[in-house]
Amino acid sequence: MKNRCKNIYITTPIYYVNDIAHIGHAYTTIIADMLTRYSKIVGYDTFFLTGTDEHGLKIAQSAQQKNKTAQEYSDIVSAKFKQLWDDFDISYDKFIRTTDKEHKIGAQKAFMVMFKNGDIYKGNYEGNYCVGCETFFTNSQLIDGEGCPDCERPTNIVKEESYFFRLSKYQDKLLELYENNPEFILPKAKAKEIINFVKSGLNDLSISRTSFSWGVALPSEMNESQHVMYVWLDALMNYLTAIGYGNDEKNIKYWPANTHIVGKDILKFHSIFWPAFLMSLDMPLPKHICAHGWWTKDGEKMSKSKGNVVNPQDIANKYGLDELRYFLLREVPFGQDGDFSKRALVNRINSDLANDLGNLLNRVQGMSGKYFNYKLDSKNVIKYHEQEIKIAHDIIANLENYIFSMQINRYLEDIWTIITLANKSIAQYEPWDLMKNGDTTKAMAVVALVANLVAKIALLIDCVMPHKTKQISKSLGIKIDAKTYESIITDKLLIDKFHISKIEQLFPKIDETFDIQSKIEKNIPAIKTTNTMQEQNLVSVDDFFNSIIRVGQIVFVDDIKKSDKLYRLLIDIGENKPRQIVAGIKTYYKKEELLDTQVCLVSNLKPVKLMGILSEGMILASKDESGLSLIRPEKQKKPGTKIS
Ligand SMILES: [Zn+2]
Repeated sequence: MKNRCKNIYITTPIYYVNDIAHIGHAYTTIIADMLTRYSKIVGYDTFFLTGTDEHGLKIAQSAQQKNKTAQEYSDIVSAKFKQLWDDFDISYDKFIRTTDKEHKIGAQKAFMVMFKNGDIYKGNYEGNYCVGCETFFTNSQLIDGEGCPDCERPTNIVKEESYFFRLSKYQDKLLELYENNPEFILPKAKAKEIINFVKSGLNDLSISRTSFSWGVALPSEMNESQHVMYVWLDALMNYLTAIGYGNDEKNIKYWPANTHIVGKDILKFHSIFWPAFLMSLDMPLPKHICAHGWWTKDGEKMSKSKGNVVNPQDIANKYGLDELRYFLLREVPFGQDGDFSKRALVNRINSDLANDLGNLLNRVQGMSGKYFNYKLDSKNVIKYHEQEIKIAHDIIANLENYIFSMQINRYLEDIWTIITLANKSIAQYEPWDLMKNGDTTKAMAVVALVANLVAKIALLIDCVMPHKTKQISKSLGIKIDAKTYESIITDKLLIDKFHISKIEQLFPKIDETFDIQSKIEKNIPAIKTTNTMQEQNLVSVDDFFNSIIRVGQIVFVDDIKKSDKLYRLLIDIGENKPRQIVAGIKTYYKKEELLDTQVCLVSNLKPVKLMGILSEGMILASKDESGLSLIRPEKQKKPGTKIS
């Protein structure tokens, strides 16, 4: 293949076995799977890693609660993750477990290399220790500066012997890395927080524990049988040990990783600790650390206690696996938080998939059957439709840029413009009219044009919907593989001849009504008289529009000294600098639940000072006995968009 000798290595985080698989895990894994399938079809030599993270005190405790050994417990949960990925047809090349023998050997080797390079030393780890929970907590985790966040009993300051990694030594090198590689952390907006954190000074990192034993032992050369590796050191090493570091190194050629996909909660570990460890090991650094956002359910945070955790298997069973993949990849720009609602999913299926793509394939089947006995010839496509083919290839030429910069929603958006182009061509050239006038050559050219566009689309979306594209390939009688990709995508060729087959409907429409009106009508008798309005003091539309309300993006959140209730927020509403807002929402939202999310802001209020800080507007919220909830736009809007 031309210019495609490159290796691509893609990873998901290894999933913590203290968790149950939910839609967020499926999302991360599907993104990695999509990137892998894309890399494979364009001809890269690709390796895709996923797996489970199984060490640490929490796992040991969970196992104990279930009367199992930590190993038995890990075996069960790890197998569940693996089963889910197998059911989801995830194309991983290796599923690693941090309890694998090879992993432990590789992690121990790495420890020795860093030790010999002078980056590991012995010291004392001092922290707030809860005896009952056998756990250290940082000051900020404690309740009232003393209580254990898990059991609320008082903690003591305890010193524990520990090995340390000289993280402080790498501060400048890390800053240089971020500076020289602006795409090291994606999306780029996330890099700022990391850079500020590193600039504020890095402490050496405690990398061994003696308070529990469920972990990778230190290398025997160290003669420290009491110590196990800090779980993050062990976990991060999986990206190297999975391709044979310290063992059989035949796959080590895939290093450095092209893309580590991680959740935004573990970005710090991957963008600070991980490159520092690699520098110490003298290993090249990964190209991209990509941090994705969270999924909420119908606007609410998912949690076991609320019982609203979305099980990806249930959704795939009901709506289709490829439909779910498409929705997750298309609905939300990478890095932003997304909301999972069945209504939004069904909308995507019915409009983008059934109406746009499914219908297009139907039309090719219908017209080729009716006019040409299912046989199409492309010999006059360029003569009559060079322009359409050129437009399609101009769009295609730009697509690869979206992939590794993680703008997957834009990748799909652009492909959908080709679908629109194909549908539009049918409407514009009206093959039925051409046939009526006896112009079969031109009619054939239109239908063959559309068949060629569908073939190109199928190759481009194979990484997103690999099962549906099998059906398309059956219908068009073409192969969906790297060779076809090279010829009709890379080399821009057409398929000479098609023998079309009729297949089942690609995306049956989903008849599930989310229409609130019809629900109301079913449940209550029609309202015959005018509603008695609760409100007494009615205003005119003009009065209402005296207030200007805009969509704003929270770009910064900070505490306000001496206030338990207030946050200082910076909110981008499309002006030359963000607005500063003081809001009494601290009791209801953590900082990370606010940062990078959108709110509604009354933007023409007179500024006021609260706790000595100027507040330039007011964000809208609603409060009842269950707490306070911010009013947010249902879909992402450009900061500054007016609400009416
Ligand atoms: Zn405790």
